Amino acid sequence: MNSLSQYACHHLAELLEGFGLSAAAPLSNWINGELVAGEGEAITLINPATGEALVSYRDAGAGLIERATQAAQRGQREWMALTASERGRRMNAAIRGLEGHEEALAQLESVVAGKPILDCRAEVGKVREMFEYYAGWCDKQHGEVIPVPTSHLNYVRHVPYGVVGQITPWNAPMFTCAWQLAPAIAAGNGVVLKPSELTPFTSVVIAKQLESGGLSKGLINIVNGLGKTTGAALTDHPAISKLVFVGSPQSGRMIAEAGARRLVPSVLELGGKSANIVFADAKLDEAVAGAQAAIFAAAGQSCVAGSRLLIERSVFEQVTSRLARAAEQIAVGLPSDEATRMGPLQNHRQFEQVTRMIEAAKAAGARVLTGGKRPEGLPDEAQGYFIAPTVLVDVTPDMEIAQQEVFGPVLVAMAFDGEGQATQLANETRFGLAGAVWSQDVARAHRVAGQLRAGTVWINSYKAISVMSPFGGFGDSGFGRSSGLDGLREYTVPQSVWVETAPEASVAFGYGSGVG
Ligand code: NAD
Repeated sequence: MNSLSQYACHHLAELLEGFGLSAAAPLSNWINGELVAGEGEAITLINPATGEALVSYRDAGAGLIERATQAAQRGQREWMALTASERGRRMNAAIRGLEGHEEALAQLESVVAGKPILDCRAEVGKVREMFEYYAGWCDKQHGEVIPVPTSHLNYVRHVPYGVVGQITPWNAPMFTCAWQLAPAIAAGNGVVLKPSELTPFTSVVIAKQLESGGLSKGLINIVNGLGKTTGAALTDHPAISKLVFVGSPQSGRMIAEAGARRLVPSVLELGGKSANIVFADAKLDEAVAGAQAAIFAAAGQSCVAGSRLLIERSVFEQVTSRLARAAEQIAVGLPSDEATRMGPLQNHRQFEQVTRMIEAAKAAGARVLTGGKRPEGLPDEAQGYFIAPTVLVDVTPDMEIAQQEVFGPVLVAMAFDGEGQATQLANETRFGLAGAVWSQDVARAHRVAGQLRAGTVWINSYKAISVMSPFGGFGDSGFGRSSGLDGLREYTVPQSVWVETAPEASVAFGYGSGVG
């Protein structure tokens, strides 16, 4: 084991011990207010920066899913016995359980996920933001009164599902965890959440710290393990009455199928192949900076990555060459280094996929303008999953690289002539998560934005997202919405209540009288 790997293992052990998770045999689950070790096969985590083993923990398995769902049922009953205002107060108080632990959480994520430490600190901030926002909703989930054409008072309540099952990916583990936990409990549900087996620990710590801040015991349970074992046991469990999944379209299909078998609804937040459209009249400095951030932040491992850059032909050469120069300036380095803006890919499978897709694109005729290989200047010991920021040109829309999500730092640039071709190219994939338009012509920017089949569209901007605004996809990017009021509503079911108010009630026999 090289010295970089040794240092990371030692640092990780300290962090796990600090949170009480034990380093030798990590207690990788949070169930009914306790840290619990898994019962299944060993899962070994690999250090993304060095490619060497980091730590092993045991798959939770079906037995722990059973314990977690029972705990969530009890926790949910206790939670719903509180007043709505008290639930809001406790959510706000729970955030204080994270205070003083932010840096250790960020370090824990950085070591395991291989994300730059600066990004991880920002992600911890998002956890706080999500809980603050949804805490405010607890006592504002008013129902409605419907002016029915009879003597009834008809009102609608938004009632929780009970216990929801959540499954999250490895690319933004803390963000996605808080993103789904906060609305679920604000709506009154108990939760069993399974993070990616590749990034198991920070979700456990978040749940543990939130409970220490005042959430009901058992309300939130985190269970770690493989998709095919622990994940499948969660989706198949009869106590789970809603599934919320964040991950790839391939797994999303399996989750939705598992839900459909039990007639349980699902929300799917899946991948993307988002188009970033630059018109010749755009402020090109800003468009280049936006295009660069859109794809290379998080090493392209972002669902909303702007992975297809569509450029009006008259400025194509100018934009691509400026972008290539900008890409070469990005500080690629070790996740722990404060100066690093882009780290390695998170795992070997992802590294292989990105490498294979670049090679296939080259074989199909694409040209590498920059990148496509290991970045220069890394320490010798950093033998992990690094790929330099890559820009590909001479790409045609039918190529795999222009159609499929790469989930890596790979941008394809294509030229277009006129608005019509821009929107046609933009909409020509099975995905529909996000997109952007860069232009100083306000009318055109709105016109084109309105024609994009994407859940989020930016004009002269990219990646601005907020927990206040709905987020989700069309097509292979999934269905349902997260964030904002739409995200909250995914966690409740409307219940219609009819109250007879006439002095002498007449009960309808069939549709002919009474209720219309
Ligand atoms: P993945 O689909 O491989 O895994 C996601 C989760 O699903 C993991 O926890 C995994 O263990 C679990 N899983 C896999 N098979 C399962 C099964 N049969 N039953 C139950 N659970 C199962 O995705 P990933 O590689 O971890 O993440 C990358 C993908 O996530 C990309 O496609 C990315 O675009 C997407 N993503 C989407 C959003 C969004 O909001 N739309 C956000 C982040 C990531």
